[in-house]
Amino acid sequence: MKRILVLGAGTGGVVTARELSKNSGNEEGINLLEIIVFEKEEKSLYSPSLPWLMVGSRKPNQIYENIRKLDAPGLKVIKGEIEKIDPENISVTVNGEVYKGDYMVVSLGVEQVYEQPLAAYGHNFFTVKGATKFNENLEKFDGGKIAILISSLPFKSPAAPYEAAMLIDDFIARSGLSSKTEISLFTPEGGPMEFAGKELSDELKGLLEQKGIKYYPNHQFISVSENTLVFSNGEKYEFDLLAYTPKQQSPVAIQNSALAGESGWVNVDRNTMETAFPDVYAIGDITDVPLEIGVSLPKIGFFAKQQGAVVAHNIGRKIAGKDPDKSFNGEGQFFIEYGKGKASATEGNFYTSPTPEVKMKTPEHLSHWSKWWSEKYWFFKNF
Ligand SMILES: Cc1cc2nc3c(=O)[nH]c(=O)nc-3n(C[C@H](O)[C@H](O)[C@H](O)COP(=O)(O)OP(=O)(O)OC[C@H]3O[C@@H](n4cnc5c(N)ncnc54)[C@H](O)[C@@H]3O)c2cc1C
Repeated sequence: MKRILVLGAGTGGVVTARELSKNSGNEEGINLLEIIVFEKEEKSLYSPSLPWLMVGSRKPNQIYENIRKLDAPGLKVIKGEIEKIDPENISVTVNGEVYKGDYMVVSLGVEQVYEQPLAAYGHNFFTVKGATKFNENLEKFDGGKIAILISSLPFKSPAAPYEAAMLIDDFIARSGLSSKTEISLFTPEGGPMEFAGKELSDELKGLLEQKGIKYYPNHQFISVSENTLVFSNGEKYEFDLLAYTPKQQSPVAIQNSALAGESGWVNVDRNTMETAFPDVYAIGDITDVPLEIGVSLPKIGFFAKQQGAVVAHNIGRKIAGKDPDKSFNGEGQFFIEYGKGKASATEGNFYTSPTPEVKMKTPEHLSHWSKWWSEKYWFFKNF
């Protein structure tokens, strides 16, 4: 019986495990494949809903599920921190025990680095705890300055801070506090979502302008004290409420393994997602896929899902003695909430040459409902 090790029960890991399980022929009492998922957390988080949590449109327990719910015939979840990854021997060490497999799919995402003093003055909205705390403070807010800070590059979900800013603006407008509130977004980027070209970047900037959100690109954060942000260009900004993205890096287990490329992230074949080690795949945020325009493929869940489905399918083919016949082609889509029950759909092909052919639609109700549906479908399908 073949054994497949799936590292991580986040977006990519869940899709991979579910797809493998669905087509495995496993039933109660008949196990043709063994799928083992390793996860350090009790809960699998659906991150696209974090901005909704920030503005009170979701409760924490609506945006995650217990990993035990993934268990199925031939599919089991082992809770524990992956301590060591040995891609040459297709094995991992978890809770001191070594598990060897025939195939391995690595979907460990990014590791968030806990940073003081940022955590003392603001809320890391890339976590359930931080987004919840931000919401508690927003509910009590009665006017003043709200800052959204992209503290360092790279960061996953390149649209999330912009989406958060627009949803916060919507909340403030509904609370009747617009006239006494200033919302500002600071980032080291030259512009939003630059990987998708200048036109799209300008369109997103235009949406911020429409809402009166102040935008400060090329602002590299260096320190915070007494509710004041300090940037490398010497500028300072005093705030009353702060939401920030944390420093993000490749997980230590990857950095200490032979899978880490020069950047620390994992290099893969951009179509099959296979690493330099045969039968070892990496998908989602942990990978580094350079694009022709000189930046890397953005770290978004849509890609992790697509890549997981491709890899699961191709592993199934290999096990059946057939050639892999699916590939990830760079097509992607995500929604940016605008407020007023509208969202912008951003979609296209990120692999086109010489630049990605990606378009952003004007905010509309349909796209908001598409995002809403994606969340519902995620939990319905997988848990
Ligand atoms: C605020 C926010 C909004 C977003 N909005 C969108 C959106 O609208 N659309 C979209 O497409 N994407 C969105 N994303 C991005 C999306 O969530 C990620 O790209 C996606 O989750 C990546 O999937 P992954 O499987 O690579 O990593 P993850 O989903 O992060 O999963 C990695 C898993 O590995 C586990 N893990 C890590 N290290 C270890 C270890 N050593 N041992 C055991 N387990 C370990 C982690 O606990 C985690 O469960 C958003 C992200 C954020 C933060």
